[in-house]
Amino acid sequence: MHTDPNCIFCKIVAGQIPSRKAHEDEQLLAFHDIAPWAPVHVLIVPKQHIESLADVGDDDAELMGRMLTLAPRLMKQLGVSNGFRTLINTGKDGLQEVPHLHMHVMGGPRPWTKG
Ligand code: 5GP
Ligand code: ZN
Repeated sequence: MHTDPNCIFCKIVAGQIPSRKAHEDEQLLAFHDIAPWAPVHVLIVPKQHIESLADVGDDDAELMGRMLTLAPRLMKQLGVSNGFRTLINTGKDGLQEVPHLHMHVMGGPRPWTKG
């Protein structure tokens, strides 16, 4: 599996940086965002290092499907019952800060800090 030793999310996947995990399986990790916008704010990441959504191809279709279908399951588990937002920032103009593909999933009662 491709990983990047300098990548902050690869370090979280490897357990070298602690995180509050919400889900883990062979391919994916979900953990709570350190600076949440909403009462529930998790990041779903592939365990393998993919820099951004701009780098996925047909071979990643199953993985991307898994990321997306995990979102509603996680929100349900975390008690979010009134809707949620999903967001993938991509590249410089997409305001992506961490160059390891991740999907924000945010929910919980409003008002939110952001978004
Ligand atoms: P981006 O702007 O790249 O879409 O989002 C990166 C997200 O990662 C931000 O919401 C930020 O709060 C979160 N983040 C950055 N570093 C860490 C960290 O070390 N731990 C956790 N849990 N979240 C992080
Ligand atoms: Zn990485």
